[in-house]
Amino acid sequence: MTIEQLYDAYLAHPIVTTDSRRTPQDSLFFALKGELFDGNQYAASALEQGCALAVVDDPAVVRDERYLLVEDVLTALQQLAALHRSRLGTPVIGITGTNGKTTTKELMAAVLSSTYHILYTEGNLNNHIGVPLTLLRLRPEHQIAIVEMGANKPGDIAELTAIARPDYGLITNIGRAHLQGFGSLEGVRRTKGELYDHVRAAGGALFLHTDDDTLVAMAEGMDYVSYGTSPAATVQGRLSPQQDSPYLSFDLMDGVSDTRVMTRLVGDYNLPNALAAVAAGRFFDVPDEAIVSALASYKPGNNRSQWMETERGNSLIVDAYNANPVSMRAALDNFDTIRTDKTPVLILGDMNELGAESAAEHAALLRRIREGRSNRVLLCGPCLMAMEQDFPEGAMGFADHVALAHYLEEHPIHDSLILLKGSHGIHLENIIPLC
Ligand code: ATP
Ligand code: MG
Repeated sequence: MTIEQLYDAYLAHPIVTTDSRRTPQDSLFFALKGELFDGNQYAASALEQGCALAVVDDPAVVRDERYLLVEDVLTALQQLAALHRSRLGTPVIGITGTNGKTTTKELMAAVLSSTYHILYTEGNLNNHIGVPLTLLRLRPEHQIAIVEMGANKPGDIAELTAIARPDYGLITNIGRAHLQGFGSLEGVRRTKGELYDHVRAAGGALFLHTDDDTLVAMAEGMDYVSYGTSPAATVQGRLSPQQDSPYLSFDLMDGVSDTRVMTRLVGDYNLPNALAAVAAGRFFDVPDEAIVSALASYKPGNNRSQWMETERGNSLIVDAYNANPVSMRAALDNFDTIRTDKTPVLILGDMNELGAESAAEHAALLRRIREGRSNRVLLCGPCLMAMEQDFPEGAMGFADHVALAHYLEEHPIHDSLILLKGSHGIHLENIIPLC
């Protein structure tokens, strides 16, 4: 079957699914392969449960005309998404970077959807499958699309930009994460830079964080809307001087009167994320009042930058969604500046996927903890446990969240300000009910 024929099938059945357990009526099933499964084996059951057609690449499973045989299902999905994106011609904003992609995407979507019909990445579906699935939700009525793009290794962003062909690009920042796949920070820089390369070739524009010298150097010669804390930035923001609430608040400076923006996000490190959303709003002519109220209403989900008051009298910052050296340091810096009468307590987990730099980065984390104000420290995960001899005085180590939970059941924490942060794989979110 050619890609044009597949496109006709898609136009007739524009709801796409890749999960044979979730089969909306009349949808188009793509039989993807994973490490442990082969979607071809589930095509029959997807059709039985309501899918109209199944795209497969194993001729042996084809039984009737509802099976659409292609060379490779993943490639077909990606080519179909690319074709659909180019047919509709909707302006696309691509977002990548080490930290803050999802938060920036959500804030930008909140701002732009006050005025436009927006399509944006659902949750964190930012990889070689998630990006095509996002684009295949694009409909003629959408006026702007915001697509998050994640990367684990060189070439990932080039592959995603070839599909999504963003007109506008935003790199949140470039830091030390997924070093296992990238090899080095330079590898991270080059990979994220594939987004700028694409936008440059396409004659598009950037949203550029001008506080970040690396990004500024990479953007040389390109069109951009700048945001940051310096007066040179087109969208300039400054943290509010009095910080009585745990939430980020900042002033948008416009040279005449400043506008106070109150958010529901914990952590000063969210300032550039919010300014990026302002920059996109201004670029697309969203009125300032709508921008400010959208930023004030957005509440983060999924254990990112969340604030909770618990039954045990604790104030809890939950940032258990992911962790790498940059976001860990940003979270600790922020934690140390929060004014509180409560006892500061750190519950931190391993930073995964750092490859050869893992030991050095965890050692740096232990040094940073020693410099901070917390003297009650609970550390969780095998990488940290391997350095138990270097723990700050009084710090306790736990092999996994189960052991940590067990300890907290016996020794509950009260009246404390707690930071809960670690890589997703450490599952510190399971500790929330015990805090
Ligand atoms: P992923 O790679 O998992 O998709 P992401 O880039 O989408 O992550 P978010 O989910 O928005 O990032 O945020 C994850 C965590 O990164 C936050 O909870 C926070 O700790 C940290 N973070 C967010 N924005 C920044 C920033 N601008 N600078 C440093 N750290 C940040
Ligand atoms: Mg994300």
